[in-house]
Amino acid sequence: MHLIVQKYGGTSVATAERIHAVAERIARKRREGSGIAAVVSARGGMTDELIRLAQEITDRPPRREMDMLLATGEQISVALLAMALDKLDVPAISLTGAQGGIRTDQMHTKARIRAVDTGRLVRELESGKVVIVAGFQGMNEVDDITTLGRGGSDTTAVALAAALGADICEIFTDVDGVYTADPRIVPGARLLPRISYGEMLEMASLGAGVLQPRSVEVAAQHHVRIEVRSSFNHNPGTIVEEVGTVEKDIVVVGVTHDANVVKVIVADVPDRPGLAHRIFAALADAGINVDVIVQTTKGEAVTDLIFTVSRDERDHTVEILERISGETGATRVEADESVAKVSIVGAGMVSNPGVAARMFGALSREGINIQVISTSEIKVSCLIAADAATRAVRAIHEEFELGEAGSDGAAGESPEAEPQGTV
Ligand code: ADP
Ligand code: ASP
Ligand code: MG
Repeated sequence: MHLIVQKYGGTSVATAERIHAVAERIARKRREGSGIAAVVSARGGMTDELIRLAQEITDRPPRREMDMLLATGEQISVALLAMALDKLDVPAISLTGAQGGIRTDQMHTKARIRAVDTGRLVRELESGKVVIVAGFQGMNEVDDITTLGRGGSDTTAVALAAALGADICEIFTDVDGVYTADPRIVPGARLLPRISYGEMLEMASLGAGVLQPRSVEVAAQHHVRIEVRSSFNHNPGTIVEEVGTVEKDIVVVGVTHDANVVKVIVADVPDRPGLAHRIFAALADAGINVDVIVQTTKGEAVTDLIFTVSRDERDHTVEILERISGETGATRVEADESVAKVSIVGAGMVSNPGVAARMFGALSREGINIQVISTSEIKVSCLIAADAATRAVRAIHEEFELGEAGSDGAAGESPEAEPQGTV
């Protein structure tokens, strides 16, 4: 049977009206004959509200209990959507992540899916039901509830699509697809009809919140075809698929910004072999993801190590660095939250010299100072002042003419000024 996995994000199920609209969409597809597994997020704002509730009790909630709390958001959504389908006489069943066979590792609040036990899902699908699975959650080896990190429902959907061998994984959200920049801050951003896994992974990792990076990684590993599209209309969205089917002559495919970064400075580390390893191994052991690393030598055989981590890792990072400062010899650890990261992404960059210079030129014309630069063959990132991020993204987007129809070789698509349709 033709099988579709659909994922509906927070805004797509935020109100009773929206839940009914989602149920109608699923019902229509089901009546056409496709099997459907739907993955649903918590209603818009709910996860933030649950985090606030925890903070009212303590500023150091145990991670296991945090997962117990956060998983309730998705559980509400799946039950409500199953009720809406029942009202339409469409047989459906809601399942928690654990009931849906999502098995994860032990890392509470940012667990990774290790396996999907599809037994129950397949049985329910074969009996003709629409299966509705709570996104963002799973169960670890000792039967405790885990969650997959913010935006984790995307990863649940892709993992289910891979495990069930679905024909496509449709990610329904509140914009028409993946744009050349966040359409909420660049009104002239252009919808990309197609993007490769590699570029999408880079865009997502560098701040394009439309997909959780891990979901793109899983899709690439298991060759899951993703379509990102709007739950507010029926327009075609963006297909995320293998390189090769995607235009390769595009130099810059998109601009991203990430305000969720902290610049960490570990000052006056003796310039000796092994110390960088000591520092980054300690952070890696704690599951802390580090980006944009630079080392600056300061003459007196000491260096400053500068790197970024996400804001929710700030306290943990500083705590670890202070704990090992006896071994690293660092005299000071600073965490600066007044920064943002802006990046350009594009697989064609590697063979096109001068791309970075154009980006720096756009920033300089805006009078924006670059604090740290980091490059790879597929991206250039700059750390700048947080309050200049919007201006920076707009200037870079314009420099590379990303809003121009056809600039990626795709057939002329008019720029979507206001992406949030309400059809
Ligand atoms: P959902 O609740 O459906 O998972 P998210 O808020 O997680 O939705 O992701 C959708 C949002 O991602 C959009 O509203 C948009 O503001 C943001 N976004 C950031 N960068 C991009 C981009 N390049 N293309 C599309 N959306 C983007
Ligand atoms: N509800 C979770 C979040 O807000 C997971 C998701 O929406 O994908 O991050
Ligand atoms: Mg999301």
